[in-house]
Amino acid sequence: PRPHPTIRVRPLTCTETRRGDQQVVHSLGDGAVHVSAARHDATFGFSAVFDAGASQEAVFEGSGMRQLVELAMDGFSCTVFAFGQTGSGKTYTLMGPLAQSEAQPASPALLGLMQRSFTCLLEQSRSRGSDLALSASYLEIYNEQVRDLLSPGPPCALPLRWSKTRGFYVENQLSVEFESLEAIVSLLLQGSQRRRTSAHALNRHSSRSHALLTIHIRSRAHHPPTLVLQTSACPSKQGTLCFVDLAGSE
Ligand code: ADP
Ligand code: MG
Repeated sequence: PRPHPTIRVRPLTCTETRRGDQQVVHSLGDGAVHVSAARHDATFGFSAVFDAGASQEAVFEGSGMRQLVELAMDGFSCTVFAFGQTGSGKTYTLMGPLAQSEAQPASPALLGLMQRSFTCLLEQSRSRGSDLALSASYLEIYNEQVRDLLSPGPPCALPLRWSKTRGFYVENQLSVEFESLEAIVSLLLQGSQRRRTSAHALNRHSSRSHALLTIHIRSRAHHPPTLVLQTSACPSKQGTLCFVDLAGSE
């Protein structure tokens, strides 16, 4: 699979409108975007362009996310990066405005790429009738340190290791199994809550940290008896779907 660069222009905020800011990014159609500001005048090309009026659903349906979920189910490693300066709408696009409590859930229309992908994954998994084991890990990289956003208790840095068989990996990283939408959304909320807590303690923390949520998809396919003899040469399929909310590009 090849990269699929997609751009989303967010609407001006109330503050921006009030102080008279002008929108300088305009879609020209066919994936072309024009930027015209004081000393900049340029056109850029993308696989897909979403204007300020685009809904969360339109972004999900038009960004190739469904195909990515299917590729991950087929054993590929797929990653979605949200890139842009602080305030450009990365977290909004990935998660929507997160509900603060279970009692006050986010409006379904505003759910982001992540929740929509989870729904798609669980639906696909059921309709394929395949026996998939799903688990999630959620990490944050801040100040050159890796922290587990799913582990309870005070945050502690985890070591990054490399091995011939596994490549780069984070030692002692939690991977939590889930089977329902409620369970994975609750993991997402817990982890994001932890990230926000640090944001409060340390000013502008989230603009300087990367957050990575990875869904591990392992097929528990039952091999026919003839293949059991060579299981080491025929590992079960394992795909991943990773969402990266990058630190502010500034
Ligand atoms: P980032 O994560 O890139 O720093 P945020 O996702 O926090 O930026 O977005 C900054 C602000 O703009 C937030 O208040 C968010 O609710 C709002 N926002 C971002 N994108 C949109 C959008 N497409 N529609 C409406 N509000 C948006
Ligand atoms: Mg953010």
